[in-house]
Amino acid sequence: MPARLLDGAALAKAIVDELRPRVASLTATLGRPPGIAVVLVGHDAGSEVYVRNKLRVAADLGVRADLERLPAAATIADTLGLVERLNRSRLHDGILVQSPLPPAMGPGAEQQVFDAIDPAKDVDGFSAENVGRLVQRRSGPVACTPQGIVELLDRSGIRIAGARAVVIGRSDIVGKPLALLLLHRDATVTICHSKTRDLASVASSADLLVVAIGRPAFVTREFVRPGATVIDVGMNTLTDPAVVRSLYAEGAARREAFERKGSVLVGDVHPEVAEAAGALTPVPGGVGPMTIAMLLANTVRAAEGEWRR
Ligand code: NAP
Repeated sequence: MPARLLDGAALAKAIVDELRPRVASLTATLGRPPGIAVVLVGHDAGSEVYVRNKLRVAADLGVRADLERLPAAATIADTLGLVERLNRSRLHDGILVQSPLPPAMGPGAEQQVFDAIDPAKDVDGFSAENVGRLVQRRSGPVACTPQGIVELLDRSGIRIAGARAVVIGRSDIVGKPLALLLLHRDATVTICHSKTRDLASVASSADLLVVAIGRPAFVTREFVRPGATVIDVGMNTLTDPAVVRSLYAEGAARREAFERKGSVLVGDVHPEVAEAAGALTPVPGGVGPMTIAMLLANTVRAAEGEWRR
């Protein structure tokens, strides 16, 4: 039986709708809408798309969203200067610095910039202070993608407590914070990465398998215990017709979309997994929209002063 599809797009829309009265009430009490500043340095193609989507959903909700651009040649001092100005801004409750920063800024630049954000405005939850708070299970903004995955599981009625969870990927923005959130919800968590031995065998022990590696269609049926819940975080753009045709049969909607547009967005999970999993997030329309909904929820919570100290 094909997996139940976990409709992140519909859940994200419901979450955004639930935020509307809080945005209206904040706008009345603050005398201005809740605000977020999105810092974009340079012209990374993927970042341009992600930022546009965030700004569109914010505008629809009535949240002020200002795109603060810096040129690709900006220095780390320029970026820190902008963050300092936004920390002082009375119009912005949240600040997001879009990753990646230009490689020329150096390997430590991103964390240095994240750490400069006022922790109460750090709606991406990437600063060292907020990551520390997450580790200790204290109050603070939590990274949006992992938070969106937990919300999606909760709203889909999928039990986390007691589940055997396997997270493939150990990045600071997805794998690690998600593993902590699942641990705090009483799952038994295994984190896998590129050096994990017998990856398919470890993965197939999971009731809940989360894949965040950035490798198109990498996770095949042998990774999945029949009936398991599979969360596909990957977002990979395919442009090679041979690869797309190997994944999707003639007549499949995704293949037809590719033939029309010349590219298609695929996750880290192979389409054949839909025949083995009990529940599965689609790409697109799964984790992506939940991430944006959590960013807006964090912005509203920041405007409500939840993390002000
Ligand atoms: P990342 O920083 O590149 O980390 C990738 C992780 O995957 C690393 O821990 C790496 O292991 C592991 N990995 C890579 N190849 C592997 C393999 N063959 N077997 C096992 N593990 C492997 O990636 P990320 O930022 O977490 O993003 C992962 C994916 O999620 C990307 O496709 C990204 O676009 C997508 N994403 C989506 C959203 C959303 O909202 N939907 C948000 C964020 C990211 P090592 O640590 O050993 O190198």
